[in-house]
Amino acid sequence: MKNYPVSQPLITELDIHYVNLATKSGWVSSLGEYLDIFEKKFAEFCGVKYCILTSNGTCAIQLALLSMNLKAGDEVIIPDLTFVATANAVVHAGGIPVFADILPDSLNIDPQSIERLITYKTKAIIAVHLYGHPAKMDLINIIAKKHNLFVIEDAAEAHGAELHNKIVGGLADCATFSFYGNKIITTGEGGAITTNSDLIYNKAKFLRDHAMSSDRKYWHEEIGFNFRMTNLQAALGYSQLLRVESIIKERSEIFKWYKKYLLLNESVRLNLEEDGVKNVIWLIRLEIDFLDEERRNNLMVDLKKLGVDTRPYFYPMSLLPMYQNNVFENKISTMKYDKGINLPTYLGLSELDVKNISEIVNKILY
Ligand SMILES: *Cc1c(COP(=O)(O)O)cnc(C)c1O
Repeated sequence: MKNYPVSQPLITELDIHYVNLATKSGWVSSLGEYLDIFEKKFAEFCGVKYCILTSNGTCAIQLALLSMNLKAGDEVIIPDLTFVATANAVVHAGGIPVFADILPDSLNIDPQSIERLITYKTKAIIAVHLYGHPAKMDLINIIAKKHNLFVIEDAAEAHGAELHNKIVGGLADCATFSFYGNKIITTGEGGAITTNSDLIYNKAKFLRDHAMSSDRKYWHEEIGFNFRMTNLQAALGYSQLLRVESIIKERSEIFKWYKKYLLLNESVRLNLEEDGVKNVIWLIRLEIDFLDEERRNNLMVDLKKLGVDTRPYFYPMSLLPMYQNNVFENKISTMKYDKGINLPTYLGLSELDVKNISEIVNKILY
């Protein structure tokens, strides 16, 4: 029996070559040519002026918020259904996360729900492109403009996704990315902010390196952070970015195979495909309307016994112990979270593998 993990990185000989070069150069910390070139190339990839590389995607969100001068007690509206990093980063930046409901089809933040939550304390909105599907940035930007709010894209799962032919990373005041091992491209751990704003760029760079004065060494005017990436990580990221187009294509091939072999119907669905949107496949998500948490867990155990590893959807943040202060009930988030699992999604899966996995899923479900 073959075992299929949910995710695994593909590290090529070329990746190893570049990391070796970085190692041999002696520039192993946060200075070095791969940091410069990866920052430059990732900004180009996102069609923006600037990229600031960070230690991970969580601190990229925190740094983005602080670069917008978030103050203690400011509210930041985020989707209820997301990875906990989005909420935690708001708290680490001194803010208060406020949870908006999601749209039932894309699972992304619902612009109407955002409007209901805006108060005089609201400072920013974070729109997460969950599973690589771009959020409704046009509507969100209109709302933000009306209320004078900042907008951040949390594009941790969405490198290369497009909304109306515009690539994510440049669809708001700034965007944040993750290069964790299971993301579209990886640096092991790592993250980035992308932006066209000189203000955000300069502030983020400053805070990333202990808020050190640029012309006076070891002179610090505020309390900053060490949120830097290493040159070794950047070498891996640069190498992966060289083939990002083929990575994205291969992931969408995997999606097509699942679509071909899984028995789907109105109540058993895969990732949304939407007009005007080019989503990237971070993870395959299979949503099954007749599941509840217990049945979903049983399904995952049954699949595991047959060699197919899965993950559940994220829990709504407003159900987690530390965030149970939500005023509104987010009906869609609460309805959706226990209905979905993520199926194996990684480079190297063949059509035959996907056929095998799909047949196992079909057998258990029907
Ligand atoms: C992965 C992820 C993050 C955090 O990235 P790390 O690099 O793991 O810190 C943030 N938001 C979302 C939606 C993610 O999926």
